[in-house]
Amino acid sequence: MRVLVTGGAGYIGSHTVLALLRAGHEVHVLDDFSNASPEALARVGAMTNGRIGLTRGDVRKDSALDAAMEGFGPEAVIHFAGKKAVGESESAPLLYYDINVGGTVALLAAMDRHGCGGIVFSSSATVYGSPDYLPLDEDHPTRPANPYGRTKLMSEGIIADWAGATDGASAISLRYFNPVGADVSARIGEDPIGVPDNLMPFIAQVAIGRRKELAIFGADWPTRDGTGERDYIHVSDLAEAHVAALAHVAGRTGYDVCNVGTGTGSTVLEMVAAFEAATGVAIPYRLTDRRPGDVKSYVASVDKARDLLGWESRRDLPDMCGSTWAWQQANPNGFRD
Ligand code: NAD
Ligand code: UDP
Repeated sequence: MRVLVTGGAGYIGSHTVLALLRAGHEVHVLDDFSNASPEALARVGAMTNGRIGLTRGDVRKDSALDAAMEGFGPEAVIHFAGKKAVGESESAPLLYYDINVGGTVALLAAMDRHGCGGIVFSSSATVYGSPDYLPLDEDHPTRPANPYGRTKLMSEGIIADWAGATDGASAISLRYFNPVGADVSARIGEDPIGVPDNLMPFIAQVAIGRRKELAIFGADWPTRDGTGERDYIHVSDLAEAHVAALAHVAGRTGYDVCNVGTGTGSTVLEMVAAFEAATGVAIPYRLTDRRPGDVKSYVASVDKARDLLGWESRRDLPDMCGSTWAWQQANPNGFRD
């Protein structure tokens, strides 16, 4: 298929472009490089001998969307472009509504203009808010606790309404759990600017010596060792879930939502131990207070992904930790090297 990938130069986007090219799809990327480097796409191109069309532009702008769609004629879109930092969404909510919600509306309107009826949307498990029960299935109530999560839930609703009102339209929102790791080549990976918010890139920067120690946010959670539990999923598995979602979208009409996780939770201390075991590098850490807004546990029910998409995660914690470390070692300063 001809697939337009918004935000395709980013962390999850670049891994997905790689998986799409390997699955034989044609890819055009729309990205403004506000949180990514063109180098990521150059490396994906080199790894695949694939031609990746590129429009540098803002997903909110009709001119950029038209430039990306004219000529290429996408049969489906995967929509990654947007902002993702929970804390920043609390201090700059309008920016988040503008880019994440406004960008989704502009994209759907452009799809209408260009006769494209299929979309796979990057949503987040954060739409569930504090869990009533675990594992989280897709019927769990949605009550996101911050503006970022609300932009994702609103975008899901807008896409559902659009799919309901548009003949032949087909859409799916994928609710990602915690993507980590890097392609096995160590050529692409997560490259956060500044101090990482997320656990795995922080551990990797401690390991490489860029940070002194990991602060573990809370040792008094009611989990098996007192630290927070999450469902970490290898980014290459997540990328492959998009290839499966694309096939799903191509084969039917209507709208659906689907979790993308592994179904297994790991605590912060278990992640530290897994990283140390996979790499042989000790991670000094300090136990600190809980981070505001954190929850005890987040683990996905993965039944729907298996039944609907025929997709299951394949890679384990040693793969996640080992690939993170290989990427970090080969690129100590990310794509700036
Ligand atoms: P990322 O920041 O690496 O990728 C986002 C990409 O979008 C970047 O390449 C950035 O340059 C681009 N972009 C941002 N604003 C844009 C705009 N206005 N116009 C065009 N391009 C723009 O983030 P990621 O981790 O790859 O996340 C991709 C998507 O997945 C996001 O929508 C994010 O909310 C969602 N998501 C991420 C996670 C996670 O933990 N990484 C979890 C759940 C959901
Ligand atoms: N965490 C931590 N130290 C850090 C970053 C994260 O202890 O420097 C913990 C955090 O409290 C949570 C887990 O690691 O229990 C995953 O956090 P992350 O920010 O990566 O994902 P999210 O909380 O958004 O699921």
